[in-house]
Order: sequence, then structure tokens, then C-alpha cells
Amino acid sequence: MSVSYWNDKVVFSPNDINVDAVIIGGGIAGHSAAFWLQKEDPNLKIAILEKHHLGDGATGRNAGFITCGSVEHFNRLVETHGKEMAKEIWDFSEKNLKLIKEHVIKGQKEDIFFEDKGSFSLASEDSELKELQKTAKLMSSMDIEVELIDEKDVASRLGAEGFVGGIKYCDDASVNPILLLSLIRKRIEEGGSNVKFYEHHEVYEVEQKGDLRRVKTNKAHFEASIVIYATNGYSGQLNSYFSDKIFPTRGQILITEPLDKFMEGPCYANFVLDYFRQLPTGELIIGGFRQLQKDAEVGLSDEITDVIQEALEGFLEKHLPKCRNKKITHRWSGVMGFSADGQPMVGALPSDNQVYFLGGFTAHGLGLAFHTGKVLSDLIFGRDIPGFISAKRWN
Ligand SMILES: Cc1cc2nc3c(=O)[nH]c(=O)nc-3n(C[C@H](O)[C@H](O)[C@H](O)COP(=O)(O)OP(=O)(O)OC[C@H]3O[C@@H](n4cnc5c(N)ncnc54)[C@H](O)[C@@H]3O)c2cc1C
Repeated sequence: MSVSYWNDKVVFSPNDINVDAVIIGGGIAGHSAAFWLQKEDPNLKIAILEKHHLGDGATGRNAGFITCGSVEHFNRLVETHGKEMAKEIWDFSEKNLKLIKEHVIKGQKEDIFFEDKGSFSLASEDSELKELQKTAKLMSSMDIEVELIDEKDVASRLGAEGFVGGIKYCDDASVNPILLLSLIRKRIEEGGSNVKFYEHHEVYEVEQKGDLRRVKTNKAHFEASIVIYATNGYSGQLNSYFSDKIFPTRGQILITEPLDKFMEGPCYANFVLDYFRQLPTGELIIGGFRQLQKDAEVGLSDEITDVIQEALEGFLEKHLPKCRNKKITHRWSGVMGFSADGQPMVGALPSDNQVYFLGGFTAHGLGLAFHTGKVLSDLIFGRDIPGFISAKRWN
């Protein structure tokens, strides 16, 4: 957003709104940061500023997979980081799900369509199947529960054709993401009334004012001693520090009319690039195929394109017979934040240690952000944080 000299000088509210912390971004990362900060100190006054409505970013546009690990098969994580760190990364995301169950869901599974039936990665070629077999062996040797499945299992348990086999990650889950966000908000509100949500407040500047930071939006100015960017794919728009660290990347999706239940759990295919799941209410959601238009799928536009939408439909036609000729009711896209190494990042700006951030969830925010919010709170309250998630790894 650009702001004119004239508008910048307008006094929108008689006084600045004074709080202890301002969080920019009303997605799962902003909510998670608020949740953990409030838990640490219920007296903290926190303002969450969101330029549209809460959940309008990737959080309200994703496919609802809560999966462990990262964007690639586990054997590749081991090749890049070694066994010990790969396991640490896996355990981090497993703990994310445990924390969501313990602090957010608390017996309200059905209200947010939460299911923990595991997830699958499917191979359409022998080369990927070999990699999945290698992954399964590695993971079993590290006490991570997985199951190898063959072509017949894929057909009978997932109703899918054209796959030679796959792997089941037994601990994964799925959810309605916008209902999950609302439930986190409810938990925050149960913790007291010191966290306030400001929708339709677009931040255009964070300026230094002595010991405080002034956060300017189109409607008001906020003053706080701490500012947190929870703006994921949009972060580079607000501060150039993020321009070479979090890359805005578009993802596209479509969803069918409700069908009779035929799938045991959510699935990834084609080296985790494409994904589909059947909702508890029967609809089939499918996304992916960024690889077909790599250049066009970088940036902040939330358009959909014929090339990718046709590829999604083609996938249904080829691999999911139960979806053939079914009505498609919605198509949409959203902006994700891909980090340079695929891992999320938490830290403070090198130029200002009162301005913090969390982001770079690389298409896995549901699997990572709640725990990452806790890590951010640890950092702010002076505790050590894991090296793989610390932004200091870029220094
Ligand atoms: C199509 C698609 C499918 C996906 N599928 C999955 C999945 O199945 N599982 C999974 O784990 N992840 C998935 N993801 C990724 C996941 O949605 C994200 O990792 C996660 O939502 C990131 O949360 P966030 O809060 O960091 O970012 P966001 O939800 O994008 O929130 C950032 C917020 O900041 C706001 N904002 C930006 N600039 C400003 C400003 N100047 N002032 C005020 N507010 C501002 C935005 O409006 C936005 O609401 C998917 C993403 C997409 C797009």
C-alpha cells in the first residue's frame, strides 16, 4: 500500500493506541504468537492488526492438511541436514499437532472438522516409490510410525488409480483451517480481554519513536515496545529484510460437490507438489501443479489460471474415478511464504531488536505455526530457540 503525504498527516484517532505488543497479520501465525504471549503474561496488552478480515491470507485459503516434516520426503531432509537435525525438524512439527490438541482443540474436534487419521504420499512411478521405501525404512529406524502401501491398497483405501504404491504417515491430521483459526481466537479470548483484534487495518509503516515503535495503519496509529511481523508471504512488502528470505508463492485449489465417502485420509502425490483430500462432508479438494507455471506462480496476485485449474481437473479425471464429471463448486488461490531453505524462521530484525517476526512456513503453516508462535514467545522472553528455526542461520 502506498500512502500520500496528505493522508499520512491525517490524525485518524485523537490519541495513539498504546499497547505492549503489536502483531501485524491475522493468520494462524499472528494468532499463535498472541496465544503464547498471552499465556506467558496475561497482562500484556496486544493488538493484532489485519489488513482485510482475519484469515483472509493463506490461513483461510489452504487445504487443511496438518502434516509433519517439511516440503520434501524425509530421506531428502536427512540428505540435506543429517539424521539428527531431520529428526529434530520432524519432532518439532509433531509437537505442533500435540500443542494444537492440548491447547486449542480440547474436546472440540467435531466443531472444526478435525480428523487425525494420518496422511499418505503416493508414487505414480517406480523411482518415487523407491524413494518412499527408503524414507519408510529410515523413519521406522527412528521410531516414527509409517506404513508402506501397495497399488491395491491405494485403490481400495483411497479410491485412486495410476499409483504404484505409497507410504502412510500415521500421525498426521486435517482440519477446516478457518474454524481452527476461530478456535484459537476463542482460546485467546478465554485467556482475558487484553488481546484485541483490529480488522481492515493495513499497516504501511513501522517507525521508531524513542523506546517505542509506532505502527501506522490506514485507520489509526499504535504505539508499543514490541512489534511482530506475522505477514508470511507479504512480509517483503513491509520490510526489505524479508525480500531475499521469504518468497511469495501462489498456490491454487479447486473443490467438488459432496461425494460419498471413499478416502481413508489426505494424500500428497508427485513429490509432495500435488495434494488432495476428501472433507468429512464429502467434498474433494485438490491443489498443486505450481510446477507447470513456476514463474507465474511467484508473487502476490491471488488470481487463478486456466493452465493450473485444467491440470487439477485433469488429475481428478486420471486418478480419481469417483470424481469424474462431478461439479466443481469453488476455485481459488492464496499466497504462501516460501523460505530459502524450506524451514520456518523466527527472529528479530538485525536493524531493530524490538521488531520480531515469524514466517516462511513453506506451504506447511498448519503443521508448524502454532509451535512456532511458542518459539517466538520463548525468544522474546529470553529463552533459547532451536537453531534450524532461528533467523540467525542467515547471518
Ligand atoms: C492454496 C494453498 C494451500 C495450502 N495448503 C496447506 C495445507 O494443506 N497445510 C498447511 O499446513 N499449509 C498449507 N498452506 C500454507 C498455509 O496456509 C500457510 O503456511 C499459513 O496459512 C501461513 O500462515 P500465516 O499466518 O503465516 O500467513 P497468512 O495466513 O498469509 O497471514 C498473513 C496475514 O497478514 C496480513 N497482512 C499482510 N500485510 C499486511 C499489512 N500491511 N497490514 C496488515 N495485515 C497484513 C494478510 O492479509 C494475512 O491475513 C497452503 C497455502 C495455500 C495458499
